Amino acid sequence: MSNGADPFDLASLITAHDEGNFADAVVPPIFQTSLFTFSDYDEMITVYRGEKVRPTYTRGLNPTVRAFEEMLAKLEAAEDALGFASGMAAISSAVLSFVEPGDRIVAVKHVYPDAFRLFGTILKRMKIEVTYVDGRDEEAVASALPGAKLLYLESPTSWVMEAHDVGALAALAKRHGVISMIDNSWASPVFQRPLTLGVDLVIHSASKYLGGHSDVVAGVVAGPKEMIARIKAEAYPYLGGKLSPFDAWLLIRGLRTLPLRMKAHEASALEIARRLQKLEVVEAVCHPGLANRLPDGLNGTSGLFSFIFRDGVDIRAFADHLKLFKLGVSWGGHESLIVPGEVVLQQKAQPNSAQTFGINARSVRLHVGLEGTEALWRDIEGALAASQS
Ligand SMILES: *Cc1c(COP(=O)(O)O)cnc(C)c1O
Repeated sequence: MSNGADPFDLASLITAHDEGNFADAVVPPIFQTSLFTFSDYDEMITVYRGEKVRPTYTRGLNPTVRAFEEMLAKLEAAEDALGFASGMAAISSAVLSFVEPGDRIVAVKHVYPDAFRLFGTILKRMKIEVTYVDGRDEEAVASALPGAKLLYLESPTSWVMEAHDVGALAALAKRHGVISMIDNSWASPVFQRPLTLGVDLVIHSASKYLGGHSDVVAGVVAGPKEMIARIKAEAYPYLGGKLSPFDAWLLIRGLRTLPLRMKAHEASALEIARRLQKLEVVEAVCHPGLANRLPDGLNGTSGLFSFIFRDGVDIRAFADHLKLFKLGVSWGGHESLIVPGEVVLQQKAQPNSAQTFGINARSVRLHVGLEGTEALWRDIEGALAASQS
């Protein structure tokens, strides 16, 4: 790793908040308060004049939330970070901070479906147009960029796991004076640090790997001080999608083990993907780790991938016979999950049901959790035996 702290250096995580601020507590306390009062008139007016920064109200600044933001900024090699109530609050607040009516966004196809729907509803009503391009086709990206305001990336994507050369795409955006941002939820900062590859802003659904325990919905944006300050000045306070102190505390707890968990997800998922690839009944496996090499800047792979069954496997029976893999969508936790593509394709989805996000009706998406490779493989073998005609 060329830039920033080594994410496998746990010490850099554990010391990432200033314990001196919290009576030397190794775990920052939860400041479960909406309000912070002033000691006197003078202090109040100093804060109102902007001559002193201190918490006033939790929609603006809260010490527990700030501790999480500082840890995350360090992990992403960013100057600053801003926590949000959800990944979608982070995405909408970041995007809306940098576009205005008449602007155009270039986005990679197969972005997270609710980001696609945000673009197709609220942004469309604001007369902001979105051009979709294949992120693997750098010529297509280059020809879409002139005149655009924003390049919106997600790599790897979260169903077909297309992995893009993020550094090359960021360089194209720079050349055309276009702001770039990326949804880095799949890789986490452990395996990909987009700011070190030249991307302007990095976004996470912290509900996934950052939290890691399926007990929090949250988001975060990290990047240069001035860009974070711009989001903080308008979208954060006025749209109001703030991160709660308790959720920030859960995220800090999750971050302590992020590098260890990511290594475990990687090892199990890669092994299961390789075994699936050898099966007669499997037509293809979509996992970036099965390619000859990963794109530059992607230093590992996570637990989420998909594969396509040939005819002859009853996908309903397969899903219902799995015991460790539960039917569920929000990945990144300790538990293993399965989502059948044929179910997602039947979602009563707005605003453009023709968009399939690359999902094949014979595909299933797995999230490989932390239960252990052999136990998970036995679960798959058992379900396969019960679902073949
Ligand atoms: C879940 C997810 C989001 C949205 O995050 P929420 O926390 O659910 O709002 C965004 N991007 C990706 C890739 C996701 O998986």
